[in-house]
Amino acid sequence: GGKKDVLSTRSLTAGYGAAAALDSLDMDVQPGEMVAVLGANGAGKSTMMRSLAGLHRPVSGAILLDMVPIEERPAHQIARAGLSLVPEGRQVFPLMSVRDNILMGAYNRTDLDAEAEIDRLLQRFPRLRDRIDAPAGVLSGGEQQMLAIARGLIANPRILLLDEPSLGLAPSIIAELYDVLADLRDEGVTVLLVDQMATLALAIADRAYVLESGQVVKSGTSVDLQKDASIEQAYLGAE
Ligand code: ATP
Repeated sequence: GGKKDVLSTRSLTAGYGAAAALDSLDMDVQPGEMVAVLGANGAGKSTMMRSLAGLHRPVSGAILLDMVPIEERPAHQIARAGLSLVPEGRQVFPLMSVRDNILMGAYNRTDLDAEAEIDRLLQRFPRLRDRIDAPAGVLSGGEQQMLAIARGLIANPRILLLDEPSLGLAPSIIAELYDVLADLRDEGVTVLLVDQMATLALAIADRAYVLESGQVVKSGTSVDLQKDASIEQAYLGAE
């Protein structure tokens, strides 16, 4: 942790009833970084993301956004402060149009020229252009993931949290999505990325944390973790 951290947790503990899903978690993200969070099913990754976004109330510990504690703030305030979550499983509204789904992400923006903003997003996700007035339910999984990211981006976040964006998608679509994520990082958006595809995540992220039973068991630069034999055995070989 340092002075420049934009998002941090301090001894963050969260769970469901008596079961702790996060156990005294400490992590830090600096502005403009892309940080990956790796770990097996049940390691606590989604609980961490939902806690950061204000959707799950931690039991104890702190979440700092720009060094200010936010762990007790409601989700809409955290969103307004510049943090957007793209949730696991996309969570699009299948009967609503693609356009209206995207606009759902804009409720915290009063300055919005919706048409111009949607046009910018469609340049980033050209596959959505032909489908803009179709119900989101007819989109492919990859297109729905693009839609979920577009919905997160229309809030114009400084920090984007992505929970398993590659889940269940074909490799060519994953490559397309990851190109967009790299572009966003290059444009200065801070990105926190949960992905079970550790090889892919480490190829794109600057740093990573490895979670096990709600605790950080390893962290470091992606370059160092890519060389780490224990990570390779636990995650990289398992794809
Ligand atoms: P996955 O990749 O499967 O989503 P994860 O790393 O995101 O895993 P979490 O979903 O955060 O892990 O789950 C952490 C722990 O909390 C697990 O033991 C899980 O069974 C438990 N858990 C998650 N959600 C709930 C819930 N709604 N009620 C009870 N226990 C839960």
